[in-house]
Amino acid sequence: MKVTRRQFLKFTSGAIGAAAAADLARPAKADGAGGAQKAPIKSGKQVPTLCPYCSVGCAQIAMVDEKGKIIDIQGNPDSPINEGTLCPKGAATWQFVNNDQRWTRVKYRAPGSDHWEEKPLDWAMQRIAELTKQTRDANFNEFQGMPDGKGGTVKKRVMNTYALASLGGATMDNEWNYAHQKLFHALGVVYLENQARI
Ligand code: SF4
Repeated sequence: MKVTRRQFLKFTSGAIGAAAAADLARPAKADGAGGAQKAPIKSGKQVPTLCPYCSVGCAQIAMVDEKGKIIDIQGNPDSPINEGTLCPKGAATWQFVNNDQRWTRVKYRAPGSDHWEEKPLDWAMQRIAELTKQTRDANFNEFQGMPDGKGGTVKKRVMNTYALASLGGATMDNEWNYAHQKLFHALGVVYLENQARI
């Protein structure tokens, strides 16, 4: 039977639409009750963890073999957030961990340099802490002039710095953001933003 291009497109769009509608009608649960089939869990020690990718914070179970190597990662059905499901990115977390192209050491490029150097993590943490303190000390405002409402200015205690800023990543969840803003506000940082708002 000869099928025209128009007939083919009409048939496939109808079939895809019907399949999508049927899929949407099912609850996306991993318990197998009317939803996605429960995926077989590979044997090993089960370690509860969180998806590293976004601030939804889906719970996962990492399966670890006797050598401590992660052999599988699946959604945690006990989590009220994702109820065992993971989006395609979260479902691919295993390859994030088991990836020989993943950088696992600190790379540092000195000012003016054209190449990266490997540095120990302790060195990098110390360097960040030193530069943070140095920048804050050199640019800290204890007082700042503010309008007094009568056309003049009045000095007010502000205890802040405009020389430091923090831009968070989407992977930072509520708990991390809470601790993060406490630290930066204690330092006097006012430019504090999270990637999720951008
Ligand atoms: S990337 Fe996907 S699986 Fe991971 S936390 Fe976000 S929504 Fe959940």
